Amino acid sequence: MDEIEVQGELGKGNYGSVQKVYHRPTGVMMAMKEIRLELDESRLTSIIMELDILHRAVAPEIVEFYGAFTIESCVYYCMEFMDAGSLDTLTGGGSEAVRVPEAVLRRITAAIVKGLRFLKDELQIMHRDVKPTNVLMNRKGEIKLCDFGVSGQLEKSLAKTNIGCQSYMAPERIKGESQNQLSTYTVSSDVWSVGLSIIELAKGCYPYPPETFANVFAQLQAIVYGPAPTLPHGYSADAHDFVAKCLLKDPNARPTYAQLLQHPFLLADQNADIDMASWVAEALSRRAAKGVISPVVPLAA
Ligand code: ATP
Ligand code: MG
Repeated sequence: MDEIEVQGELGKGNYGSVQKVYHRPTGVMMAMKEIRLELDESRLTSIIMELDILHRAVAPEIVEFYGAFTIESCVYYCMEFMDAGSLDTLTGGGSEAVRVPEAVLRRITAAIVKGLRFLKDELQIMHRDVKPTNVLMNRKGEIKLCDFGVSGQLEKSLAKTNIGCQSYMAPERIKGESQNQLSTYTVSSDVWSVGLSIIELAKGCYPYPPETFANVFAQLQAIVYGPAPTLPHGYSADAHDFVAKCLLKDPNARPTYAQLLQHPFLLADQNADIDMASWVAEALSRRAAKGVISPVVPLAA
């Protein structure tokens, strides 16, 4: 910790906060996540050991891991600082004029799917928490995943009180949790979360808006038993079909990552020349204009 200078807060989640920090010995700017856990020393040590596999998670679509340590009952986790922040803050708003163009949506989707395929094929892990706040971008236009479930111990320690409000969990996972059957789901549950996240990026808001439901129970019922949400108008038939397949209620009917990458929607991304850096710059200036200026993310020129 004494090698680090805190620069400011990047955001807060359900389990802790993320700070922008400068690591003096290496001169690298990092994002440091603090997770408060009421655990004994031996459990904290096993979490740190489990996090070690993150050193092998090296791919263009995965946020780089620098290391983790514990102080008292907190786990600190240092990763690559992504200077444009998470997708939720880049796409909000939702008006037609600023809607994410299909080519950009496609590039983002391709990165998410490639990242997930890497985690599954190379590390044999599923993500478990795919959602727009866990997809980060930088000003170069790179798109990377973070916060995937590498540590069983850490997952177990985080309160499971979090199904409500904005759930990206697939219907089968919600059903399993409600019946207390853990791990009744597989990698195809992440595919559902991909579909839901794409709709959120396109619409600019969570696809099951809490204000349209009497309570969280009704909202979860809608996810499990109601019709799946769809992309808004203005996107191609291929895009609609891609999302619809991700959101099939039967997990076994959802496509695999290999199949998703062969879908016409994503095939069109191959070799496409898309200026993601310019899109990020525009998104950042829109965000600044809305007054959501993060203290550590400077205004776009
Ligand atoms: P949850 O607690 O449910 O996972 P969350 O993903 O929003 O929700 P955190 O993971 O704690 O919560 O992250 C908080 C915020 O910090 C994110 O929304 C994101 O905007 C920002 N953030 C996280 N990691 C980085 C990073 N590596 N670089 C830049 N910003 C980051
Ligand atoms: Mg997160």
